[in-house]
Amino acid sequence: MSNEQQPLIRGAQSLSLMLTGYDRDMDAKLSELRKTLKDNAFNQQRFNEVLQEVETAYDNIEELKSKGIKTFRDTLDSILDKSNREIISPLQTENPTITDLLSVAEPLFKELTILDAAEPDGVSETTDLDELRLRLTKQLKTVLKTLSAMNIEDQSCEKLISQLKQMPSWKDLDVITDETLYLVQSRLTEEKKQFEGYLAKVNAKLSHITQIVETDSNTLVDLKALNQQFNESIHDQMREARQKIDEKCSVTTLKEELLQSLDNIADRLKDYQTNYESKLNDLQQSKEQMNIQVQQLEKENLNLISELNKERKLSMIDTLTQLPNRQGFNTRLAEELSRADRYGYTTSLAVIDIDYFKRINDQYGHLVGDKVLKMIGKEMRRVCRESDYLARYGGEEFILLLPQSNLDEAFTAVEKIREHIENCPFHFQNTPVSITVSGGVAERQASEPVEKWINRADTSLYASKGNGRNQITA
Ligand code: GH3
Ligand code: MG
Ligand code: MG
Repeated sequence: MSNEQQPLIRGAQSLSLMLTGYDRDMDAKLSELRKTLKDNAFNQQRFNEVLQEVETAYDNIEELKSKGIKTFRDTLDSILDKSNREIISPLQTENPTITDLLSVAEPLFKELTILDAAEPDGVSETTDLDELRLRLTKQLKTVLKTLSAMNIEDQSCEKLISQLKQMPSWKDLDVITDETLYLVQSRLTEEKKQFEGYLAKVNAKLSHITQIVETDSNTLVDLKALNQQFNESIHDQMREARQKIDEKCSVTTLKEELLQSLDNIADRLKDYQTNYESKLNDLQQSKEQMNIQVQQLEKENLNLISELNKERKLSMIDTLTQLPNRQGFNTRLAEELSRADRYGYTTSLAVIDIDYFKRINDQYGHLVGDKVLKMIGKEMRRVCRESDYLARYGGEEFILLLPQSNLDEAFTAVEKIREHIENCPFHFQNTPVSITVSGGVAERQASEPVEKWINRADTSLYASKGNGRNQITA
């Protein structure tokens, strides 16, 4: 060994010691290298060979290290959402170093602590559930309003409608549907019992939905637990890593162990992601199922409403004359009066009764009597104004509502009807028969109760009868 070689050998010896501890394979090579340096007969060629091997081993470690850090970075990148991704920006360079890695570990630790307190993403699913609940609530409201319009248990309907106004829970919806079902059951006749079937179906679907909602909230609880579990395990890893930082004196061992910890963290993150995705998938699926159920309900509801409306119309029509009956008249009267009160219109009504109708029955029989009733109804309707509302009030008595008409105008309109009926050429068994009607007209006084108003018209009708019939009295 020459004197000039001495500092070079010493430098190589200390460099070799500095590099020790990275990798077992390299450690062996370094020990080999030091051996060639200690050898009294220094062999330049052997030294060069071993040095070459050390260099290759070092390159391998460098490559492994950089690959490990990059894998860790990419895993984090795919797991963290946009807002959190900033944490890993120090690792976004071409060749991230261990220092970069350590600078990420600290904020990540903090972020995970924050995550711990936050709700998992799945919670936003409840907004979608709320929307479904709102849709169902609206549906039930429409059903109840239709029932209410049919005069079926008005008060109970109103009560349920007001309950629906406060966006009931799924369980309450279940109960309200039950009560609606009861209302329908207690009121509708046998042939209308098909609606029961519908509401029973609604009920079954709602129970199903309630079940799904419960499962979903369990899934949310699972998600929370999963989230907590994950955070705890990450915290453990971080704690371990910190402990190692405190304990280890050798930087190289520390680096290795830290890398191992970060690898563990990456594994946990991956597990967490898989678990979380499958839970979210469950939620998504049950949400879709609910959507289908609600859509079916909506479709059936439309059918029900149209059936109910048909029923309602039928129940308000007199089958003989096809004119509205007393119930139809009362419904229309209520609508008309609220409009009149709102706009300050004057409204009048007339009661019209066929004169000596009993005689027609007696002379020609009830069937002919029915025919006459039908014809008179048709004729009166023909000469009425479009806006006037004519109904068969009972027997051979009709009632006519004249919106936006004062007493004079109403009188003129009803007089026209009387005149028309008097001049109608009715024929029975080829003999012309004169049929007349008498009427009484009354204009509504401010805030007068309907009964009193109709009674006044009735009194006028009796006056017409008493004064010889075939006349109108106002
Ligand atoms: P007035 O001029 O005083 O009204 O005499 P009227 O005979 O018309 O009155 P009354 O009240 O004495 O008789 C009404 C008759 O109308 C008796 C009833 O049999 C008949 N009537 C009521 N509803 C019907 C119906 O739907 N069909 C038939 N054919 N007759 C009916
Ligand atoms: Mg009569
Ligand atoms: Mg009568």
